[in-house]
Amino acid sequence: MNPSLAEPLVPGILPLRPRLLIVDDQPINIQALYQVFQADHEVFMATSGEQALDFCRRDPPDLILLDVMMPEMDGLEVCRRLKAESATADIPVIFVTAQEDPADETRALEAGGVDFIVKPVNRAVVRARVRTHLTLKAQADLLRSLAFIDGLTGVANRRRFDETLQAEWRHCRRGAGPLTLIMIDIDHFKRYNDQYGHQAGDACLQQVAAAIKQCLGRSHDLVARYGGEEFVCLLPDCSPVGAARKAEVLRQAVAALNIPHATSSVATTVTVSLGVATCMPDANASADQLLAAADAALYAAKTGGRNRVGEARPDQR
Ligand code: GH3
Ligand code: MG
Ligand code: MG
Repeated sequence: MNPSLAEPLVPGILPLRPRLLIVDDQPINIQALYQVFQADHEVFMATSGEQALDFCRRDPPDLILLDVMMPEMDGLEVCRRLKAESATADIPVIFVTAQEDPADETRALEAGGVDFIVKPVNRAVVRARVRTHLTLKAQADLLRSLAFIDGLTGVANRRRFDETLQAEWRHCRRGAGPLTLIMIDIDHFKRYNDQYGHQAGDACLQQVAAAIKQCLGRSHDLVARYGGEEFVCLLPDCSPVGAARKAEVLRQAVAALNIPHATSSVATTVTVSLGVATCMPDANASADQLLAAADAALYAAKTGGRNRVGEARPDQR
């Protein structure tokens, strides 16, 4: 094997075995590309545009090598359709074609392709181009995900929470299921910073975030950093009783971290106060009301002595 073909892929950012879909109506062309990539990629094949679209909707690959000239649906149309659907729009498409004409190349790029390779393909060129576009895609994915993550604690950030709250609100409204919000605020955190320093404060926030995250088991549960030393949990389809129980579990999980807090008035270790609110999303209520109810419940927990769970009064739900 040519040694350059055995080069490791960029470590870290690319999947171990990127998933490639090769689309061509001629099996012999698929075979040629399969030989180039099978050693270090998971290679899938489709011999028609319809087959390719079906595959991508079911299980989007990391990149597509797409023939332009195919009977029935040509590659340009396949690409346009992929770009028109949100689930498949971000898959990079490299066109592979027998034609070498600037007008064809332009059409391919206008249809949404990221690159254009001429048949017969040169192994080194096609490998290099595939690797470039896989890397660019992985970097774009990473950036997109970082935009929704809190840099200090690694949990979701406020932007992600705001978007998820609206989405879950709509979802629960359609399904008529309840939606629960738990606001969590560290007790006397200003004193903690004053006593132990800002860096220790940061480390404490990280530990508290991790402890909260560990308590949430279901895939639709979300924990986010709401602001400085405040976190929020969004729990779809949780009864008011279950929500109060979950909040108590969270309170105990933070207490169990046993982080010394000598200047707290409530305990010798770091504690949190929590506000719980559950409501049935309907046309007469808004997500903002749920937030306000959880906030009021948190305020009640603070004024009631801290290190406890406050519940929204029924008229606040
Ligand atoms: P309470 O029990 O009433 O909640 O009192 P508190 O001191 O926790 O509340 P307050 O809102 O007065 O203070 C919040 C403190 O959180 C002040 C701020 O310095 C600290 N804080 C906010 N964000 C960060 C952060 O990212 N890192 C660190 N170390 N501290 C932070
Ligand atoms: Mg606060
Ligand atoms: Mg606080």
